[in-house]
Formats: sequence, C-alpha cells, structure tokens
Amino acid sequence: MNRRQKEKKGSRQKKLIIAAVLLLFTALLFLFGKPLLSRIPVNDHAPDYVTRMYLKKNSFSRPGERLPEVKNIVIHYVANPGTSAKANRNYFDNLSNPVANPAGTKASAHFIVGLEGEVIQCIPMTEIAYANYPRNYDTVSIETCHPDETGRFSDATYASLTQLAADLCSLYGLTAEDVIRHYDVSGKACPKYYVENESAWEALKADIAVKLAAQ
Ligand SMILES: [Zn+2]
Repeated sequence: MNRRQKEKKGSRQKKLIIAAVLLLFTALLFLFGKPLLSRIPVNDHAPDYVTRMYLKKNSFSRPGERLPEVKNIVIHYVANPGTSAKANRNYFDNLSNPVANPAGTKASAHFIVGLEGEVIQCIPMTEIAYANYPRNYDTVSIETCHPDETGRFSDATYASLTQLAADLCSLYGLTAEDVIRHYDVSGKACPKYYVENESAWEALKADIAVKLAAQ
C-alpha cells in the first residue's frame, strides 16, 4: 500500500468513526431524550418562587387528568392548625397508600402556601386537583396553612398567598374578582376565617388587586 492509499484509508476510517458516533448519539437521544423531555409539563408556568414537589400519580390525589381551562382561582385553608406546607403535601401524597388511607379519601390542591410564606406546588397546572368539586375541571386550587383554630393567615402566609393569587390571575388573564373561596364553590366553611369575616375576605381580594395592578 503506497502513501496515497494509506491516506485514503485513514480518511475513510475517520469518516466511519464520525458516522458511528453520530449514530450512537442519535440512538441515545431516541432512547432517553423523549422520556426526558416528556417529564417537563407543557404550559406549566408557575412563578419561580414556587417549589415543585409533585405528588406521585395516583387515583386519590393526582389522577393525571387534563385541566382544560381555568376560570377561577379557589382559596382554601388546611383546617389543621400549625401544620407545614410540606406536611400537607405529604398527606396528599400518602393518600395513595391504602394503609394510610383506608377510607379512600380523595384530596389535593395545586399549591400549598406555608406558615413561613413558602409555596409548594403539588400538581402541574396542566392537570386537575381534587379540591374544588364540582369545579375541578376549570379551577386552580390553593391550600393555605394557618397557625391556629381561627384559620386566620399569618403575615408571611398572607403576603405569599396574595402574591401567588395575583401571579396566577395575571397568567390566566383573570381579575381579583375571579379569586373565590371554597365556600363560594360548595358552601363549605373554608377558608374559615375569611368566610366568618366577610370584610377580611374583601380586604384580601383588594390586596390581590393591588399586587395585580403593580405588575
Ligand atoms: Zn377548602
């Protein structure tokens, strides 16, 4: 084999190596790229201060059904004084466990605002939650923690809740008047303090409107 033939052979080997690497890369992308991409929920634009801790998919708290539209943001209180956002998130997650949930309770919310003002997202905004029956298919739900039996929110919780509600209104093209209580959906005394004190509820909505106007 002369020098020229050797050079030709060398360049053919290089081309073969490049082709093999490209083929391997394509195969890896095909095998792992798609599941990786499909884990990113489409149209899930929660504000960046929100910590995503999605529940595992299960029929008791995250059925994985599509949320087709959002007409109202619904506010709740957890009715369990002093519990954290994370504890309430884990409660929803554990409903999938038949030992922890022998009664087969179904419950969940998209967001939970905690005692320190932290915000946990349990369910992607592309999916329904189980909090606003019979409005689960056109609402987003926010559970809110509270320090005592009155159900009144702490200052830190209140600040985060009004910010989150304003941001969600902005995202869905809603106004503060579209933010409603669980009580307005089903008549349940939830969120307790803001059902018993109509003026406190009106003030909360006014504070959401102020934050929305500032955007
Ligand atoms: Zn409620």
